[in-house]
Amino acid sequence: MLITVAHFDFPWEAQLARARLESEGIEAWVADEHTVGMQWLYCNALGGVRVQVDAEDLHLARTILGEDRSADVEAQAGSTPMICPCCGSSRTRYRAVGRRLAFLVFLGIDFPLFPVRHSVECDDCGARSRLYR
Ligand SMILES: [Zn+2]
Repeated sequence: MLITVAHFDFPWEAQLARARLESEGIEAWVADEHTVGMQWLYCNALGGVRVQVDAEDLHLARTILGEDRSADVEAQAGSTPMICPCCGSSRTRYRAVGRRLAFLVFLGIDFPLFPVRHSVECDDCGARSRLYR
């Protein structure tokens, strides 16, 4: 019997979790991936894209998916803090601008008319600057 061990908003997130579990020797399956891929507005109605495992592997799978591996990724790939162009502070954070408008337009006309822009917001001076990727 398959038990849902995690829910995700996007199919790629579920595939990453499945790959992580299978790297530890736990067989895992992704459910509702294609339904959400075809119409992502069904995501909340379906409970997201689900990752499922055998009932006997449930506890170990939850433990593995609950691990915080961000320090390993940062040690391997490194990280450079975003610097505020106005005051030079490194106390900045990423901010998506225009998500609400883009979502509402997508709901209304079923087409992504406005893109979501990326910006950096400074905690020290409050300035917002556009993030170019
Ligand atoms: Zn600043």
